[in-house]
Amino acid sequence: MIALGAGASVVIYQYFFVGQINLIIIIKDIIISFITSLLFIVFVNTLVFKKIDKILTTVKVFRSQSNGPMAHSKNNTDEIELLQSEIMALADERKNEIERLKKLEMYRKEFLGNVSHELKTPIFNIQGYVLTLLDGGLEDKTINRNYLERAEKSVDRIIHIIEDLEAISQLETGELILEPERFEIITLVKEVVDAEEMRATTKGIMLNVPGNKPVFVYADKFRIRQVLVNLIVNSIKYGREYGETKIALHEMDNMILIEVVDNGLGIAPEHLPRLFERFYRVDKSRSHDQGGTGLGLAIVKHIIEAHNQTIRVTSKEGIGTTFSFTLTKV
Ligand code: ADP
Repeated sequence: MIALGAGASVVIYQYFFVGQINLIIIIKDIIISFITSLLFIVFVNTLVFKKIDKILTTVKVFRSQSNGPMAHSKNNTDEIELLQSEIMALADERKNEIERLKKLEMYRKEFLGNVSHELKTPIFNIQGYVLTLLDGGLEDKTINRNYLERAEKSVDRIIHIIEDLEAISQLETGELILEPERFEIITLVKEVVDAEEMRATTKGIMLNVPGNKPVFVYADKFRIRQVLVNLIVNSIKYGREYGETKIALHEMDNMILIEVVDNGLGIAPEHLPRLFERFYRVDKSRSHDQGGTGLGLAIVKHIIEAHNQTIRVTSKEGIGTTFSFTLTKV
């Protein structure tokens, strides 16, 4: 096409500017322009497209590292289009990656802020009690024992927070290796219910356990106990006075669904998606009053997911909350 164009330009030039058409000159000029065009095409092909090819290969290497789907070209025009689409895809991937990193950075900052905030309160309390005791309170029989006991409670709270943080970090870094075994789940539920009976009775809450038919599961018993304790204690902490917590078991094919159902305060829908996040609380002051760290449900979710199972929550404000998780039946 370029060669033909060049030939046509030579004829037009001869006709208009030289005033006559000399066939030999025209043919000679056409051949020269044809060869020049061919050389130009070869030059473009070897230099420009080779460079494009190199860029494309580099972009593909970047893209293959991020496992994005890649297309293949048939010719040079395709090659340019392909390069364009690969660069666009790469830009998209990088944008998503940056957003993900920004989110992680935000979580990290939020987490550090939360940890220091959680620890600050009991530490300042201890400092206050100790200073008062040193300032003469130690000799004052009406407060010395009481302040020491309060300081001890704050120490307990710090230990509780640190234990929860340790558990979370072990679960998140995969350091915690599950030790699954075959055990009977209803017996475990009953053990936990017995241990929490006192707590429930002080609030007049009834704890209902499932029937007696034994159901065997394959899981880490110690960790599942931790899950049950967290869910049952929460149902008491956030349950209404003289309310009820029901633990129900539903057998499915090779799984068992365990539900902890309460008729307590319930949770507004906007809180549900974030409920399993570390330190997330619906009502901060109520959680604090109940000695909560806001880490319980995050730990529960990690444990269940480490078992390759799922946990769900459904709730209606003023009606109650249901937490349900699955385990493998054996
Ligand atoms: P916390 O130590 O604050 O109890 P969790 O992680 O166990 O932390 O729970 C997170 C938040 O979820 C609680 O602060 C509470 O607001 C809410 N929550 C958990 N369980 C229930 C429940 N059964 N009923 C109502 N709210 C609940």
